[in-house]
Amino acid sequence: MRKSNRIISILLIIIFATSLSHNPAHAKHLDFLTEIKFPVDHIKSHFYDDWKEKRGSGNRLHLGLDVRAPKGSKIVSIADGEINTVSYSPLSGYYIAIDHMNGWLSLYVHLDDDIIGNDNAGGKKAAFAKDFKKGDFVRRGEVIGFVGNSGNAEGTVPHLHLEIKYLGEPQDVYKYVLQSWENYLKAKLFPKNTMSLLIY
Ligand SMILES: [Zn+2]
Repeated sequence: MRKSNRIISILLIIIFATSLSHNPAHAKHLDFLTEIKFPVDHIKSHFYDDWKEKRGSGNRLHLGLDVRAPKGSKIVSIADGEINTVSYSPLSGYYIAIDHMNGWLSLYVHLDDDIIGNDNAGGKKAAFAKDFKKGDFVRRGEVIGFVGNSGNAEGTVPHLHLEIKYLGEPQDVYKYVLQSWENYLKAKLFPKNTMSLLIY
C-alpha cells in the first residue's frame, strides 16, 4: 500500500513538472494569423522581413511589413472584421484599420492618392475601394483600398505598410504573411480544377 502510494505521488510530481515545463510553441491567440489572407492581390508583390529595421535617421524602428506592388494594386482585408478607422495623416497618408474583434487589428498604410505620377490629386477616392464608415463589416479578401505611396512614403516605391496589432501592440507577423503569400501564389497559379491537368 505504502509502495503504491509512493509510486502515485512520484507520478503526480512528474505530471506536475511536465505541465510546468510545457511551453506551447504556438499560443492559441496566434491561430488567427495562420488563417490570414495575403493583403495585396498582385502576383508581382514582393517583401522581405523588415520587422524592426532601422528607419529614418536610425532612431525609428519599423514596426510593420512593407509589401511592394505596382501602384493601384488591390489591397484586401486579411480577415473578417469591422472598419475601425478610415483616415489621413501627413505621416501615414491614407490609411484604414480593421478590427477583427478578437484582440487583433490590421492596419493598411500609404494608400494611393495619385492619378498621374505623384500628383496627390486622387484623394481618398483613389485610396479606398468605397466610402467606408466606422463599423462597416468587411469580409476576408474583400477589396478595401489600393497600393500607393501617400504620406511620408511619397517618392518611395509604392508599397503597402501592413501593421498587425494584438491588444494594441504591433506584432512580428513575417512568417505568417509569408505563408499567406505562398497560399496566394498556389491559388493563383493552380486554381481549382486545373490541378488534375498537371499530372498528364
Ligand atoms: Zn512600412
